[in-house]
Amino acid sequence: VIVEIEVDHKIEDPALQGQVRAELMRLYPAIRSLEFGARLTIVSIGPVDSREVYEIVGRLRYIHKHVVKDVVFEARHEPPCREDPYLHLERTGQVVPVVEGQYLIQGQFLGLMRALDAWVVELAREMGAVEQEYPSFVPVELLRRINYFKEFPHHIMIVAPLRATADALGDFAARHDANKRKFDTLDVVGALAPVALVAAPSVCYTCYYVLRSRQLDGNRLVTAKNRCSRNEPKGFSPLSRLNNFTMREVIALGDRDFVLSQRQRFLDMITGMMQRLGLAGRIESANDPFFTNDASYKAVFQHSLKLKHEWLAALPFRGDYSAVCSVNLHNDSFGKAFNVTGVDGEPMHSACIGFGLERWAFAILAQFGCDRAMWPSPLRELIDGSWGG
Ligand code: ATP
Ligand code: ZN
Ligand code: MG
Repeated sequence: VIVEIEVDHKIEDPALQGQVRAELMRLYPAIRSLEFGARLTIVSIGPVDSREVYEIVGRLRYIHKHVVKDVVFEARHEPPCREDPYLHLERTGQVVPVVEGQYLIQGQFLGLMRALDAWVVELAREMGAVEQEYPSFVPVELLRRINYFKEFPHHIMIVAPLRATADALGDFAARHDANKRKFDTLDVVGALAPVALVAAPSVCYTCYYVLRSRQLDGNRLVTAKNRCSRNEPKGFSPLSRLNNFTMREVIALGDRDFVLSQRQRFLDMITGMMQRLGLAGRIESANDPFFTNDASYKAVFQHSLKLKHEWLAALPFRGDYSAVCSVNLHNDSFGKAFNVTGVDGEPMHSACIGFGLERWAFAILAQFGCDRAMWPSPLRELIDGSWGG
């Protein structure tokens, strides 16, 4: 179907176009293309509710108009490369799609992700961070305490065990005998045990959860890397929106002044990284993609309090930007949710910085190309491991 939707004004701003595209594709996976003319033209293989689209466009326009972006740093230069690195990565087998949104990664691209990760770990250690490792599942109770199911139902990937009775397992096995039937999805009606685990959508929650109902013995910094799972919409360009991706975080926990000063160090860290790598892009305030009806108000609120910043790296071949990292200030919301207090007896404050390693490595190749010999020397040294500090 082709749907033409009357919008109040033509949507011209590329950032707003991107937000509208992302939101509509999330809600309507059947959408195949969107065109921003005097009217919004949608090509879809399934039904589209034009009233709903009208409302969404209005909401996103509201956010766009009311947020005053806090731009922390900007590097506007023209990057040397304009090619899409994905073609090379796929041809050379460095990135192999397993299914849409999930990839096997090897070779130089993997090496680049590892080197970037090692760089963050080194900086975190210098700041005094302790290294931790977490399971890739989180308990339902954890996400309940931060009301994640209400605010981000579109992200969650449930980890569901089968009922462990002989009958239930026998029925399930009989329905899924590969010699008798071909199937790509499971028939789980009546087969599931109560769900108590969810695939971790982010890294730092586990760190607060294990401290629940306790008092910190001091301010602290932690670093951890984990595989994150999110049920992202389909139809985006390769490597940009994964269902399962790698995030490295550095987390600050403690009293308000400590956490605020560490948040500033996180922003300084990525400013320094952008300069050292010579990466074009900017660091600016941002908002989380809340699901609830009051999403627009929450987003404006996040911006006005400067709770979230994103490092947007330029993707010259696409003429837009990719968020490679975010810096988040939670104030005492996790301290309260998990009943953790600081040494001062007040609810713990926290902040984190999270790097999406696939997106970061991809942005570097998009700006500098896949030929290492052409890279600027700081980047080559980083990969060669000779880059101290
Ligand atoms: P976006 O607005 O692009 O969806 P986000 O606000 O959901 O990003 P955060 O929750 O702040 O992202 O996660 C921190 C970082 O993790 C992001 O800056 C990005 O680099 C990475 N990341 C988030 N979602 C994905 C994804 N679906 N695929 C790959 N990397 C991701
Ligand atoms: Zn975090
Ligand atoms: Mg997201």
